[in-house]
Amino acid sequence: MTSHLYDPLDASYLDGGGARAERDRTFQICSDCRICVKFCPSFKDLFKMIDERDDGAHDVTFLSDEQHKVVVDECYQCKLCFIACPYTPEQGQEWVIDFPRLMLRSLAIQAEKRDVQKGARLLARTDLQGKVATKLAPLVNRTNDVRPLRFLMEKATGISRVRLLPEYARERFSKWFARRTPALRDHAAATRVALFTTCLVEYQDPEIGKATVGVCERNGISCDLPADQVCCGMPWLDAGDVDKFREHAERNVAALVDAVKAGCDVIVPQPTCAYVMKNEVPDFLGTDDARLVAKHTFDVAEYLMARHREQPLDTNFTGPTHETITWHAACHYRAQQIGPKSRDLMALTGAKVTMVERCSAIDGTWGLRAENVEMARRIAKPLMEAVSKADTDLVAGDCHLANTAIREATGKVPSHPIQVLAAAYGLGED
Ligand code: SF4
Ligand code: SF4
Ligand code: SF4
Repeated sequence: MTSHLYDPLDASYLDGGGARAERDRTFQICSDCRICVKFCPSFKDLFKMIDERDDGAHDVTFLSDEQHKVVVDECYQCKLCFIACPYTPEQGQEWVIDFPRLMLRSLAIQAEKRDVQKGARLLARTDLQGKVATKLAPLVNRTNDVRPLRFLMEKATGISRVRLLPEYARERFSKWFARRTPALRDHAAATRVALFTTCLVEYQDPEIGKATVGVCERNGISCDLPADQVCCGMPWLDAGDVDKFREHAERNVAALVDAVKAGCDVIVPQPTCAYVMKNEVPDFLGTDDARLVAKHTFDVAEYLMARHREQPLDTNFTGPTHETITWHAACHYRAQQIGPKSRDLMALTGAKVTMVERCSAIDGTWGLRAENVEMARRIAKPLMEAVSKADTDLVAGDCHLANTAIREATGKVPSHPIQVLAAAYGLGED
C-alpha cells in the first residue's frame, strides 16, 4: 500500500496553524522544483503569485492566507502531482511532501469553518439523489434538458446549468442483480469476487455492472454483491467533510470485510471509487479491516488481467469487435499506478488501442460546479481535441463522469472497457 504523509486520525490533522506551516514548507519546495506546472490551476496560480513578488530570497512565506486558499480551492484531487513528484514519502528523499493530501487537509480545515464551495456538500449525497432519481428516472432525465429548470437547479445546488449530467437508470443495478439467474451453475466451486459497484453504476449506468458480471461469469468467476454498500464517500472528501467520509468508509468496510475474509477479492468498475477504497479508506479509518479490504480491492481490468496471467481469459470472441479504439486513461485510473490494464483487456479482442492520457477535469463533482466550469473546460480541452480528432471505430473510458464530459464536448459516446469485452463475447444487455 502506498504511504501518505498525513494521518487524518491524528489530532494535529485539523490544526490550522500546523497546516499553514506545512503549506509554507511544501510551497517552497514546489517553487524550487516546478515539475507540476503543467498539471492544474493550483500550481499555475501558486507559481504566478510567487513570481509576482519574488525578491530572489527563495522564501514564499509572504503568500497570504487568501492566496493559499486559491491554491487549495483549485485542487480537484486528480493526484497526478503525487505520481509525478520525486519527494513523496516512499522515495526516501530528504524532502518529503504529499501535495494532494495537504490540499485535502487544508480543505477539511476550511470546511470546519464552513468555507467551501456551495455545491460541494449538496452534490455529495449521491445515494439519496440516486434512490430518488432512479424512481423518477424519465422525469428527472427530461428536466436535464429544460433550461429554466437547470437555471433554478444551478441557483439551488451549484451544479452548472451548462454541463451535461449523467442520466439515471430506470432500474438500479442491485435490483437487476437480485432478479437475474447466474450463468454459473456451480457458484460454490467457482472463483468468487465481491462487487463494489459504486453509485455511478448502481444508479446511473447499471450496464457497466451487468457487463462486469457477464465477463466474469464467462471466465468462471462468480460475482457476489455484498449488501449495504454505499457511495465510496469521495464527494464528501471533495467537500472537506472528513466525518461524513469516515461514515461512508466504515459502512463499506463493514459491508465488504466478511467477503474478503471468506477469500473474495473486491472488484470495482469505476476508477475514482477504486482509488478511494485502496487509499483514502485505510488512511481515514486506520483499522485492520480497512487495510484488509484495501489490499484485496482491484480495478476490474486490473483483476482480470492478473487472472489472465495465471489462467488465460476466454478469447473466443463471437460478438462485435473493433479494429481501433481510443481509450481515455482517466486521472484516478493512472493514480492507481496499475498500468494501462483496460487497454490490455480491450487489446485481447484484437483491437489496436490508442491511449489518451489527458485530464477531463471533472474529478468527482469539482468540474460540475458552476464556479469551476470555465476552468474545467479549459483544462479538458486537450483531451476533447484528441478525442474529436481520433479516427478510431470506438472511444472507451472507465470513468463514467469523464465519459459524460467527453460526450458533452465531442458528441462521441464512450463505452466502458468491460462493455467492449462483454460485447465481443456476444453478451446481451440483460
Ligand atoms: S492533485 Fe491534481 S489538481 Fe490537485 S494539486 Fe495535484 S495535480 Fe493539481
Ligand atoms: S508536487 Fe513535487 S513534483 Fe510537483 S512541483 Fe511540488 S515538489 Fe515538484
Ligand atoms: S467516487 Fe465513486 S462511489 Fe463515490 S460518488 Fe463517485 S462514483 Fe459514486
